[in-house]
Amino acid sequence: MFKWETKGSRFVIERLFEAGYEAVYVGGALRDIALGLTPKDIDIATAATPEEIEALFHRTIDVGKEHGTIIVLVGEEQLEVTTYRSESTYSDHRRPDDVTFVRSLHEDLKRRDFTMNAMAIDHRGQWIDPFDGLRHIQERTIQAVGQADERFEEDALRMIRAVRFVSTLGFTVESETQRAMQKHASLISYLAMERIKQEFDKMFRGEHLVQALHLLYETGLHRYLPASQEELPLQPFSLVQQPIEGWVLWAKYHHLTSADVAKAYKLSKKEREAIERYLTLAQEREWTLWTVYHYSLEELLFIRRLNERPETEQQLRQMKAQLPIQSKRDLAFDGKDVKRYYPNCLGENIGQLLTEIERAVVLRKVSNDTEEIIEWVNEHVYERLCTK
Ligand code: ATP
Ligand code: MG
Repeated sequence: MFKWETKGSRFVIERLFEAGYEAVYVGGALRDIALGLTPKDIDIATAATPEEIEALFHRTIDVGKEHGTIIVLVGEEQLEVTTYRSESTYSDHRRPDDVTFVRSLHEDLKRRDFTMNAMAIDHRGQWIDPFDGLRHIQERTIQAVGQADERFEEDALRMIRAVRFVSTLGFTVESETQRAMQKHASLISYLAMERIKQEFDKMFRGEHLVQALHLLYETGLHRYLPASQEELPLQPFSLVQQPIEGWVLWAKYHHLTSADVAKAYKLSKKEREAIERYLTLAQEREWTLWTVYHYSLEELLFIRRLNERPETEQQLRQMKAQLPIQSKRDLAFDGKDVKRYYPNCLGENIGQLLTEIERAVVLRKVSNDTEEIIEWVNEHVYERLCTK
């Protein structure tokens, strides 16, 4: 076993090989191996067809047989096994019109986007690298396989992928490839937003995001993204550590609301709500105990750095840790208590009453003690909320 192999991947490769099918490791994990890093999940490609793969293994999941991908389950592991394929004509700049399964690895590598992604390692650990991917990785450059012009015309997502790889790897794009990106930038308007969004999420995770965004503007790709005509200030993006923070800044500097950005980039409801929270927090001038209570440390620390707020990280951590309660669940008074002690408090007023109690406890106007809370309610809110 090679040190980057797992028991499952070794088993799958050997099983296929013994059955007479060529099988190799491919994909992003090979970049990591070439860079001396520990690879994430490693993909397997094989000359066997999906049916042949299914026939060889007991436990498989069909996740896209028509594209040639089967998941093989070995112990706790899930291994993605994909049949060698070539992609023929692309009439819409986004998807091959049909997928043809082939028995030749070279054909399969040829259709891949960048030289660093078009390598394989066989069962003996031999590298198969027909397009000089290893050298380009060493030189830290991203270079299209074959004619960059053609490759971007076939599938415009590759241009966005180049930008995302700049962000995650810190490589630069080779000049011919970059020129082709400039030339074909407008083709990205044909892409399904879900695919762009996926690459953006990965881009926002990268350590070289500022460099990647710079490339986005330099190539003019941004002009064909929704609501993104103007150039953003790049420096704030150096603070981004996770996708949601990237989206927050993307919305903020394009002057988009959370709803706008979610609609344009097909973000989920959960993502939209998260963005909304960050944007609201960013607007708050005065950070009170309630602010520290209401927002997570993650949200507070990000906006603190973004807005260069006076609070130190240490202070925020301390304030947070010393709050009388951490969430509604910790409150010594709940819905049942309302019914018991204030049966006249009805409908919306119940929620309102609980929120006011929560606020008072957080702001230390009353301690988190049932008796004291009752006393406080009687004095401050009973009349208003429980007597109508
Ligand atoms: P990551 O480590 O982020 O998963 P990756 O290179 O594995 O990076 P994937 O999107 O998982 O990226 O794709 C797996 C492989 O499939 C790539 O390495 C590349 O060889 C090929 N590939 C993916 N998308 C395209 C595309 N649009 N055009 C051509 N080849 C592609
Ligand atoms: Mg991958």
